[in-house]
Amino acid sequence: MAEQQRDQGDGRGTREGAQDVPEAWGRSALPEEARAWEALVATARRTVFEGLVVGTSGNVSVRVGDTVLVTPSGVPYDRLAPDDVTGVDLAGRQVLGTLLPTSELPMHLAVYRTTDAVAIVHTHAVHATAVSTLVPELPTIHYMAAALGGPVRVAPYATYGTDELAENMLRALADRTGCLLQNHGTITYGATLDQAYDRTAQLEWMCRLWLTASSVPGLTPALLSREQVAEVGERLRGYGQQG
Ligand code: 13P
Ligand code: ZN
Repeated sequence: MAEQQRDQGDGRGTREGAQDVPEAWGRSALPEEARAWEALVATARRTVFEGLVVGTSGNVSVRVGDTVLVTPSGVPYDRLAPDDVTGVDLAGRQVLGTLLPTSELPMHLAVYRTTDAVAIVHTHAVHATAVSTLVPELPTIHYMAAALGGPVRVAPYATYGTDELAENMLRALADRTGCLLQNHGTITYGATLDQAYDRTAQLEWMCRLWLTASSVPGLTPALLSREQVAEVGERLRGYGQQG
């Protein structure tokens, strides 16, 4: 069990001892939620193992019906146990667990309220964050931009955890499944945790590719047209093993 717990009083405190841990408020997790929590924790750990975040940066969520399971704020992912399950409803009210939910609830909830997302991954991946400081849109260096719905935009900077950041992000996400957050990181969503994670990994890879190609002195990388990217978008629908 992670040490940091919500206080029963104002709900924002940090508990010191394990003995007086309060009863989790709300209800207990359903079997489906317990399984989703396990997958969420595995995905959050993967963001650290695969170098997309350092420490407790970033956050992950997954939707089960009208409940959104989220990583708790500031808790190292290797400390998360099955009974740390943390969940909120679509209005942000805590319905599962005692740990304080991620500070980026406004971003996660804004995506669930306005898209068909089932899972969201937010990271501070280094190449993607570097690109977010340089351009308002990732140049179309590779056709995999189509896997995120087209050229990837950068949401203007706003302080982490604010409604303003969530609003900027939603605009940048229009018709896309991922965007960059200026001087901050990435956010992607998908129909599964694996899909949301893979989109983040592809985005980070494309940002690294563009930084690499554009750092060759005297040469400028060729870019794809919007039409070329759109054509791949169609083609990707039939990519891989069907059925
Ligand atoms: P949390 O630990 O509150 O999820 O915050 C990490 C983060 O990336 C904020 O932008
Ligand atoms: Zn962040």
